[in-house]
Amino acid sequence: MNNFNEQPADLSVYDGTRRRVREFLAAELARGTFKPWQVTWTTFDRAFSRRAGEAGFIGMTWPRAFGGGEASALERYVVVEEMLAAGAPCGAHWIADRQSGPQILKHGSERAKREILPRIVRGECAFGIGMSEPDSGSDLAAVRTRAEKVEGGWRLNGTKVWTTNAHQVDYLITLVRTSPAGEKKHEGLTQMITPTDAPGITVRPILDLSGHHEFNEVHFEDYFVPDDMLVGEPGSGWAMVTAELAYERSGPDRYLSAWQLLTALVDRVGGDPDRLQSVQVGRLVAHAMALRRMSTVVAGLLDRGANPQVEAALVKHAGTGFEREIPEIARLLVGRGDGRDAGATRFDEALRQVTLTAPSFTLRGGTREILRGVIARGLGLR
Ligand SMILES: Cc1cc2nc3c(=O)[nH]c(=O)nc-3n(C[C@H](O)[C@H](O)[C@H](O)COP(=O)(O)OP(=O)(O)OC[C@H]3O[C@@H](n4cnc5c(N)ncnc54)[C@H](O)[C@@H]3O)c2cc1C
Repeated sequence: MNNFNEQPADLSVYDGTRRRVREFLAAELARGTFKPWQVTWTTFDRAFSRRAGEAGFIGMTWPRAFGGGEASALERYVVVEEMLAAGAPCGAHWIADRQSGPQILKHGSERAKREILPRIVRGECAFGIGMSEPDSGSDLAAVRTRAEKVEGGWRLNGTKVWTTNAHQVDYLITLVRTSPAGEKKHEGLTQMITPTDAPGITVRPILDLSGHHEFNEVHFEDYFVPDDMLVGEPGSGWAMVTAELAYERSGPDRYLSAWQLLTALVDRVGGDPDRLQSVQVGRLVAHAMALRRMSTVVAGLLDRGANPQVEAALVKHAGTGFEREIPEIARLLVGRGDGRDAGATRFDEALRQVTLTAPSFTLRGGTREILRGVIARGLGLR
C-alpha cells in the first residue's frame, strides 16, 4: 500500500499528445457531434469511435503489427483523461480499448489477435463484458453459465445480466465454467470471445432508472465457441478476471464520470462564491487532485507490469464515492433544476443526468462492500 507514497509519473512529457487530443475534441465540439453534459463515457457512438481510431487514440499501447502505436500506458492515460474530462461518448470503443483488447493481446490465439485487434484500433469493433449473472454478481466465481467440450470447440448454455451495450457490441468476453469447481470455486473458469451475431445468443433490454437502454440480459443456448476463441487456457479465467479488474478499477473513469457537472457547478457558482460554496467546491477540487495522483500511481505500476489489485480497489472506492458526492453538493449549493425545460442550462442538464446515473457509479465494476473486502485482505485484516 506504500505504493501511494511513490512520486506519480510526470505526465508533462506527453503535453504534445495532450494538445493533439484537445484539438481533436475541440474540432468535434465545434461540429456539434456531441453535447458533453448529455452523454457519459458509456454512450455508444460508432462514428465518434471511428474518428478516434483514425486519430490514433485507440489501442495506443499495442504493437504496430496489430495497428497499435506502441505508446506507453501513461501516454494513453493522458488521452483517456482528456476524453473523459471533455465528456466524449467513448462507449463504442471503451471496453475493447481498456480491457478486452489487452486480454486478447496477452492471452488470445493468433487468429483472434489478427482478426480482432486491428479492427478495435480502427474504432470498428466494440466489446462488452459478460461476467455478471442473475445469481452471481459480487460472487463472480459462482457463475453458472457452462461450456461443455465438443468437437473443435465448446458449447455454451446460460444467462448473463447487466451486460452494458450488449445490444450494440460485436463481441462479449464471457466468463463461463468449463469444469466443476475443485476445492476452490475459483477453479474451472474460462473466458471466451463470443460474437453477438452468432446463432444461439439472445439479447434482451433492461431499462435503467433514467429510462435509458444500456443494460441487457444475454442468453446463450447451445452457442458454439471454436477452440481458438478461448482467451487463455481452459481454467485460467479467474486469474485473468482479477488482473483485468485492476485495469477496470483504477483509471480516470472511476472519478471523472461527473466531471462535466463539477465544471458546470464552478461556472454556476461564479467568481464571487459565498463561504459555503468556496469550502465545498474547494474540497471537491482537492479530492479530484488527490484521486488523480492515486490513479496515476496505479497507471505507473500497471505500466511496469505489476498487478496492483488492492491499490486499484482503493482508487475505485474513493473515486466513485467522490463521483457520487458531486450531485449532492451541487444540489446543496445551487438547488435543483429540472434539466428538461427548453431553457435548461448546462448545469441543470448535467445535474439531472448525473443524479439519475450516480447510484450506479459505486456498483459497476464491483460494489463498495466488495472493494472494502479486497482492501481489508490487502491490509492483512481478514
Ligand atoms: C451501470 C452498471 C453497469 C454494469 N455493467 C456490467 C457489464 O457490462 N457486465 C457485467 O458483467 N456486469 C455489469 N454490471 C454488474 C455489476 O458488476 C454488478 O451489479 C455488481 O458486481 C454487483 O452484483 P449484483 O448486482 O449481483 O449484486 P449482489 O452481488 O447481489 O450484491 C447486492 C448487495 O450485497 C452486497 N454484498 C454482496 N456480497 C457481499 C459480501 N461478500 N460482503 C458484503 N456485502 C456484500 C453488495 O455490496 C450489494 O450492496 C454493471 C452494473 C452497473 C450498475
